[in-house]
Amino acid sequence: MPDSSAVHFTNAFDIRSVGCSGDPTMFEAFWRETGDAAELVIPGWQTMSYFSDVGNVCWFMEPLFDQQVRRLHRTVGNAAVDGYHVLVGTGSTQLFMAALYALSPADADQPTSVVSTAPYYSSYPAVTDFLRSGLFRWAGDANSFVGDSYIELVCSPNNPDGAIRDAVLSSGAGKAVHDLAYYWPQYTPITRRADHDIMLFTVSKSTGHAGTRIGWALVKDREVARRMTKFVELNTIGVSKDSQLRAAKVLGAVSDGYDVGGGGASRHRLFDFGRRKMVERWRMLREAAAASGAFSLPAETSGQCNFANETAANNPAFAWLRCDREDVEDCAGFLRGHKILTRSGNQFGADPRYVRVSMLDRDDAYDIFISRLASLK
Ligand code: PMP
Repeated sequence: MPDSSAVHFTNAFDIRSVGCSGDPTMFEAFWRETGDAAELVIPGWQTMSYFSDVGNVCWFMEPLFDQQVRRLHRTVGNAAVDGYHVLVGTGSTQLFMAALYALSPADADQPTSVVSTAPYYSSYPAVTDFLRSGLFRWAGDANSFVGDSYIELVCSPNNPDGAIRDAVLSSGAGKAVHDLAYYWPQYTPITRRADHDIMLFTVSKSTGHAGTRIGWALVKDREVARRMTKFVELNTIGVSKDSQLRAAKVLGAVSDGYDVGGGGASRHRLFDFGRRKMVERWRMLREAAAASGAFSLPAETSGQCNFANETAANNPAFAWLRCDREDVEDCAGFLRGHKILTRSGNQFGADPRYVRVSMLDRDDAYDIFISRLASLK
């Protein structure tokens, strides 16, 4: 999601300023180089019907999109697809809401509690509560939750701090939704094929096409898949087919880059580009934080990446930066005073001494951020 604090800005320059939103514009440089591999022409008569595949649980999903999602997961090995229903949503944000709807019992006396371990993605509480649903409500940090009936949101690698996470609650009546938006080789080693009941993904973070507004869910249970589909039907009657076809084209181009067996492997390899960039940016950031002496960062972790076949570091899409100066309690305010826009830790259920900084901005903006940060004492 765009930075929710950004909507309060009136000045477009502020919105685009260094480090604040999670806009994945870093990937533009890659897609500029791929020629027509991800280009798409849609004739005027195409994609006009509401329907795509009436035999599928997700009747508005383009079969080509379904195929390319499964193909990419098989290529990367980050999630199981056999035996799963694929569902398409307008961003994974819509599917997150669909999951809350599908997992909340309609006949419960009380709204179902929605929890996540702090620091949690700031949109979870905002999206859960903005319509004041009678079905579910935000109940904060999963670690302090007491009760049997809940929906736990598990984001791994985690937004904002990049931590690798598992569910912390385990009651029989509880449900988990795994948000795997960042479980891709540019950000983290692919250590296992995830096979949770509900897994959410998005092109916003995998390929950088946030503006296409396409996400997908891998769902084991047919009834849950049916209810999630019902939510999207009631909410938007389906998902833009034009966007689905574009996403299918883009995902296909990514898989083609690694299609060694099919002979189609190209020199345009998204995850190689992404990993190179992230390694370089994290190196720059750690050097700048050390030069400044005023900030600390989470320790680097690494693991064996089954996709790259080598040991790889965790290079999160966000930096969870702590201001170590004794006289600074509001790190976001302090950085804003030095022309660095970040999102405060308190929006993630954490201490305001922490801020979240996007690592996915364009090179020029990222370079300015680094030089400003390094000069702070
Ligand atoms: N989950 C997480 C953890 C995210 O960081 C984001 C985007 N910031 C989303 C979901 C939303 O993605 P989409 O653009 O597909 O709605």
